[in-house]
Amino acid sequence: MSTHTPDRPGTADNPLDLLIVGAGLSGIDLAHHVSANFPDWTWEIHDTHDDLGGTWHTFRYPGIRSDSDMATFGFPFRPWPHRGTLGQGADIREYIRDVARDSGALERLRTGSWIRDSDWRTDRNLYAVTSVTGDGERTIWARRVHYASGYYSHGAGHRPTFPGEKDFAGQVIHPQEWPENLDCRGRRIVVIGSGATAVTLLPALEKAGARVTMLQRSPSYIAPMPSVDIISAVWRHLLPPSAAYRAARLNHAARDMAQYTLAQRAPGAFRRVLRLMQRRYLSAEEIDRHFTPRYSPWDQRVCKAPDGDFFTALKGNADVVTDTVDRFTSRGILLGSGKTLPADIIVTATGLELEAFGGGTLSIDGEPLDLRERVFYRGIMLAGLPNFSFTVGYINASWTLRSDMVSRYMVRLWGTGERYYCPVLPPGRHDRPMLEFDAGYIRRGIHRFPTQGDHSPWHYTQNYLTELPELAFGDQRRDMAFGDRALQCAGACSPGPVVRSVGSAAPFRPTDLGGLPPTETVTVAGRTVRIRRTGTGGDFRTAGTTVVMIHGIGRSLEDWDDLVALAGRTGSTGSTGSTGSTGSTGGDLACIAVDVPGFGLSEPPRDVTLADTAGLIWAALDALDGQDATESPARVSLLGNSLGGALAMEMTAQRPHLVSSVALVDPAGFGSGTTPLLRLLAVPVLGLINAAATRLPVVYRPVEHLILRRRGAVTAHRLRVAGRVAANPGRARTYHRMVRHLGSPAGIRPGWRRDLLDRFTRAVGDRIPVMLAWGADDLILPYGDFRRALEKIQVADAVVFDNCGHMPQLEYPEEFADEYRRFLAGVGARQIRRSDMAGAAL
Ligand SMILES: Cc1cc2nc3c(=O)[nH]c(=O)nc-3n(C[C@H](O)[C@H](O)[C@H](O)COP(=O)(O)OP(=O)(O)OC[C@H]3O[C@@H](n4cnc5c(N)ncnc54)[C@H](O)[C@@H]3O)c2cc1C
Repeated sequence: MSTHTPDRPGTADNPLDLLIVGAGLSGIDLAHHVSANFPDWTWEIHDTHDDLGGTWHTFRYPGIRSDSDMATFGFPFRPWPHRGTLGQGADIREYIRDVARDSGALERLRTGSWIRDSDWRTDRNLYAVTSVTGDGERTIWARRVHYASGYYSHGAGHRPTFPGEKDFAGQVIHPQEWPENLDCRGRRIVVIGSGATAVTLLPALEKAGARVTMLQRSPSYIAPMPSVDIISAVWRHLLPPSAAYRAARLNHAARDMAQYTLAQRAPGAFRRVLRLMQRRYLSAEEIDRHFTPRYSPWDQRVCKAPDGDFFTALKGNADVVTDTVDRFTSRGILLGSGKTLPADIIVTATGLELEAFGGGTLSIDGEPLDLRERVFYRGIMLAGLPNFSFTVGYINASWTLRSDMVSRYMVRLWGTGERYYCPVLPPGRHDRPMLEFDAGYIRRGIHRFPTQGDHSPWHYTQNYLTELPELAFGDQRRDMAFGDRALQCAGACSPGPVVRSVGSAAPFRPTDLGGLPPTETVTVAGRTVRIRRTGTGGDFRTAGTTVVMIHGIGRSLEDWDDLVALAGRTGSTGSTGSTGSTGSTGGDLACIAVDVPGFGLSEPPRDVTLADTAGLIWAALDALDGQDATESPARVSLLGNSLGGALAMEMTAQRPHLVSSVALVDPAGFGSGTTPLLRLLAVPVLGLINAAATRLPVVYRPVEHLILRRRGAVTAHRLRVAGRVAANPGRARTYHRMVRHLGSPAGIRPGWRRDLLDRFTRAVGDRIPVMLAWGADDLILPYGDFRRALEKIQVADAVVFDNCGHMPQLEYPEEFADEYRRFLAGVGARQIRRSDMAGAAL
């Protein structure tokens, strides 16, 4: 291993201020900003390749060009010098070189240097970077590292093997390894694939004299576009050159985002416009057969055809075949349909292989980090890794739009003079893929990258216009540690529980509620309270863990019908394989669903407070088996939704010795925000009229849609239940009084929340396991409260339901039942461990 010469920066005593990994568009963009802002810094830029250019060095196939307009794909600080809308590969390479020369990157460029590892050394608070070159390895010391390493392997593309490949007598070529001086004239070439590469290759090879067939398994969207950039030309006419370039860039970016949004929101309209454009070149039958994908436009990238070159080539010596490969033969390809495609050359335009950090590793004190467990901050830094940053651009728009913002963001951060910086991960969901785009190559390899969260600043959206203000002016100290605290954070990554995500693209399936036991009533303090129970026999306290289910404000025990029905069916769901292993979590789960007094079809209580209502529910449970539960050693699992969550917390605080676990589902108590509807109910006097109005179908019907957000979850059955419950004569008064007790028109009051939280956390200690579940699209109690709750209470299990409103138990009944059973199984296992330990201690 060789080391740096001592007088050159890069030693432990004289470290580089910055080491940039990768000399493609992103690395050179950063080099430009660093040289402009920190002229005194010592920095180097390393690349495995023997020259700069990144993608535009690797790819050399005929016709190689950008698929984005250069107004947005070019550097914002250097106008693209050519007239064409798209950029040719060689021109882009030279354009990158010009910027590298001006920024001093050429002198600092170390080619043929693969950065195998960047190791944060806590003894020196520096990176020891291992560079592998033809001459061996050397260690370079640096205060900061920035990876502009792209997102795919430059070493090799994605190359599935096809049956019979060995039989093929011709040449098989991957576009990433295009042979120099390949003569295509007169050759029969089959290009397998339908992405941007295949769409570029077909006209280029046809022009070079080949007879080309593009063989696609399924069609892609291909949009004809003018080859000359008219937008830029217009702006150049109106403004001085640099202002014109900025205006054109913004104009192109806004147009692209508008197009993307239109494609996603109104795919039908987008398809019709695209079809009209294609009709200039193709018959309706050709479009239907070869150019009408099954997916929506911009679910995957839309390919471009400048001046319709792709379509024009189809009128010459090129064609498209939509079929599958059965196998290669000695003379070509046998298709799934039984036809044969003769070929001299087969080009496998089968895509990229995703790769993080160029196949290198990141580590702390020699311990490599498992990237899959790491979480991105703004898609730029990694939680728990000091002085590290990374560039990833946009997938649905020009990469450079974002890569330049990332460079500026880092320069702004470095400009603060903070020597150490490190993102600190708050509890919450961190399992979102770094690239949320439904392309095959992303699906194949995204698990190799760190994940991201689901909210700013832990989530980067594929939206330039949203990110522009956030990255340019956003708070750079949010969820960040600086100075000594940043150093202490090295290695720390995931506080709080792992949050499980549940969601389904499948249509909502109502639960079969046949066989639900009828409701009963118990009399408590002279009022009747309605309950529904199953699996408890006569005395619920002998049934092992019984789950007591408490619904939300204004609702009824029917909110638990699905869970009660599923609880009676062993392994009803099976999707997570989490049917419990202990007696209490099998198919005989014992449940008691209770009408909160005054709601459902129960009679109103005298006093409407959280404490009294919780006390009444305890009293109802006591009355059920005719004994005072304070005397009984049997315990219950509390499961509460919304107000029911707060009631479950209050019940736990009142009688912790009787609670074996608590599950809170979109519970009240963790924030002040709530829907305007509840605020209206808290208005003095008028609020009572508002509460009374909730019995009108014109009110409760839309409210049901506000509460249940999953498509299809508001069934006719649910509306019937809502109507019956709304008709309870005592409900309006209880509703109004409870809302006023807990909140005001300004929102939910902090006083009781603080007090309840304090008593609840003391009551659960480390003895009572807590589960927290939330619907990601809850409009009644916002999803932000989920994260707040995770910060405030110790949670054993945390689950987020996507495309779900305020009641995951109704919107995802089976999945919810699975998650709850999983939690209870964990509770059971924990109890067995405890009693084993107690036995051992005896
Ligand atoms: C054929 C093709 C066409 C494309 N066209 C477009 C387009 O039109 N519009 C668009 O927005 N995007 C396009 N993309 C995506 C494209 O990759 C990016 O737009 C952009 O070029 C990426 O630039 P980059 O500098 O971030 O990464 P890359 O271009 O991938 O460069 C990364 C560099 O880092 C080096 N490197 C990586 N890891 C290490 C390591 N550990 N040590 C040393 N060196 C390392 C690599 O050798 C490489 O030179 C295209 C991609 C391909 C493959």
